[in-house]
Parts: sequence; structure tokens; C-alpha cells
Amino acid sequence: MSLSDQIIEVMKSVAGPAPVPLHGPTFSGNEWKYVKDCIDSTFVSSVGKYVEKFESDIAEYTGSKYAISVVNGTAALHIALILAGVEENDEVLIPALTFVATANSVMYCKALPHFIDNEEFSLGLDTKKLRDYLEKETKQVQGKCVNKSTGRIIRALVPMHTYGHPSDLEGIIAVANEFNIALVEDAAEALGSHYRNQHVGTFGIMGILSFNGNKIITTGGGGMILTNDHSLAIRAKHLTTTAKMPHPWEYRHDEVAYNYRLPNLNAALGCAQLEKIEELVEAKRELHNRYSSEFSKLEGVRLYSEATGCRSNYWLQTLVLDEPDKDIRDQILNSTNSKGYMTRPSWKLLNQLEQFSKMPTMDISTSESLSRRIINIPSSSNLVGVR
Ligand SMILES: *Cc1c(COP(=O)(O)O)cnc(C)c1O
Repeated sequence: MSLSDQIIEVMKSVAGPAPVPLHGPTFSGNEWKYVKDCIDSTFVSSVGKYVEKFESDIAEYTGSKYAISVVNGTAALHIALILAGVEENDEVLIPALTFVATANSVMYCKALPHFIDNEEFSLGLDTKKLRDYLEKETKQVQGKCVNKSTGRIIRALVPMHTYGHPSDLEGIIAVANEFNIALVEDAAEALGSHYRNQHVGTFGIMGILSFNGNKIITTGGGGMILTNDHSLAIRAKHLTTTAKMPHPWEYRHDEVAYNYRLPNLNAALGCAQLEKIEELVEAKRELHNRYSSEFSKLEGVRLYSEATGCRSNYWLQTLVLDEPDKDIRDQILNSTNSKGYMTRPSWKLLNQLEQFSKMPTMDISTSESLSRRIINIPSSSNLVGVR
């Protein structure tokens, strides 16, 4: 039997009969109740009790001191980069293998994404390679990391926890500290993931989450900025709420800022979703176990499993082919999708998109290989019983 037929057999036995989507939301709790309550109260928009509740619930769940809700994860990243000090003409280190939002948010700051290689082990940044690269390519000038060939300041480092699997945070923190680069985590995909028992997104000066429709919990659309720093939290709230000065009736805004606030209606949905997060993570981990015992019998492919010391939310289950052969990958994508099992390749490497093709890029051979070998397979929590 061909590899793609064997993969389809596993999906049939684990995920059930087709059609099976890549990822669907699970609404099994108080979603209707809270959303109805929100509508009944008439406070559906930018003011209301669910916004504060959702922020404090997320802070409590992640162990972050502060959590500031926003319209989506991209907006969260934009604000986090501004507050990390990213300015026009700076460079920001990001993995080559990530969703386009990571690079877009850098561009919103008029800065340049600088693409770094990924590693096999975590699917995140290769920190050993990054350190060697920075040692060679940068110098310290007045406590700042400067790219010797471009003369620009490398202001921030943005690891991304790929498909919910935690990156090598120990290595990442060490590099950020050693080279004086601000650490901002793109934890958009990783609500419920832990690195050495600490929730991801809480290791840098700021981290961000996304609650888009395809993420592990959804608010329809939404995002969150996480930080342990009181003054950054105040600044984040101010910048995302049009910089309006508190006053009983006067409209005064003390700087040009953003209308990035999360509506109460979306926060209500988020409160109900978050009540189920542990169940959703458990379901995804169970789904991983079921896939794993079947895929381990196949040759030429493996199911990605969390690195040591990490507890992944397994947001998207990830197959990694042995061979970086795009034809084999595309054949598997074609046949699984045509049989009703929705699968997707990883993102096109960002440096290969026209708009980023001139951005500084290190040797990214592992990102290149991974991008030809990764296939995400049906991952909804409800495939193992949570409904
Ligand atoms: C989903 C996602 C974001 C943010 O997405 P929004 O749709 O704006 O909420 C950012 N980075 C990564 C890696 C993502 O997967």
C-alpha cells in the first residue's frame, strides 16, 4: 500500500469517517449562556464585565501577572513589539517557518523581519545556530545588538511555538540575555502549552495569544497580550484603547493610538471557552496518543511528539515525512484532501513570499527541509469525545 493510502487508513481508524476538517471549534459549555447574557445586558461592544473577566481568567490560567485583551493575535503582536521598543529600521529576529502574522506585525512597526532557522527537535528556533550566527554577524554598541552588515539594531527576538509545541525557551532566553535583545513570544497557537511547568508566553517581557476561530479556544476573533510588568500592562491597555484619558465625560486622547479592543460579546464567548481548556488539551493529548500508536507502525513518516520538559497542547497534530520530497508530500496532500480528510502543508517559508524576499535571512536549511516534510492532519478536540 502506498504511504498516502496507509495514512488515510490511520485517519479513518482514529478520526472516523470522512469528511473530517483540519480543526473545528468545540462549544460544549456556557457559550450560549454568556453570549445571551451579554446581549440581554446590551453591553455587546467595547465596555462590559466579560472583558475584565476574560482578562483575569487568562491571567490566572497562564500565571501571567497581567493580560490585556485585543481584537486579534496580530494586533497583540503589533502592540507588544511597539512596547518592546521596536522602531523604524530596526530588525526583529523571527523563525522562517511561521504564520505570516509574525512578520506582518514587524512590518507594521516599519521594522524588518530577519529570518532565522528552525530546528527538528522543537520545530521552533534553532538556538544553537542562532547564537553562532549572532556571534559572527553582530556587535554590541552601547548595550545594543547591531547587525554588522546592515548597521541596523536587532531590537527583538520573537520565537513562535509551532502548532502549540513549545520552543527551546532555555536557549532562547540565554540568547536574548547574552545579546541584549528583547524577548517577545508569539504563543498564538500555544494556549495550554507549558515549558518546564510554566505556561508559554510568560517567559519574555511580553507574549501573545490568539483566539481566532481555528485556535484551541476561540472568541470568534481575538487576542491577548501577556506580561508580568505593571507599566507595560498599563501602556498596552492605553495604546489598544485609543489612548483615552480617564474622565467622566471628556474625550481626551494623549497620543495617536489604536482601537484594538476586544468587544464584550467576544470576551463572553472566551470566558465560556476558557472554562473548558483543560478538557480540550486533554482531548488533544489523547488524540495524539491514538494517532501515535498507529503512525508508529508506518515507515517514512513520524508523528511529532513534544520535546522533553515540554507539555504541548497539541493544537495541530503534525506529521513529519522522512524525506524532503515535495512530490511525495503533495501526493499525500492531494489524496487525503480528495478523500475528505483535510490536511495542510506547513506555511510557505516567509522569505519566499515576494514582500519579504529582500529581508535579511540566515542559512535556513532546516526550515526549508521541514517546510517540505510537514503535514498537519485532522486535530479537532471533538474527535475524541469532547462535544
Ligand atoms: C494565529 C496566529 C497569529 C495571530 O493570528 P490572528 O488571526 O490575528 O489572531 C499570530 N501568529 C501565529 C503563529 C498564529 O498562528
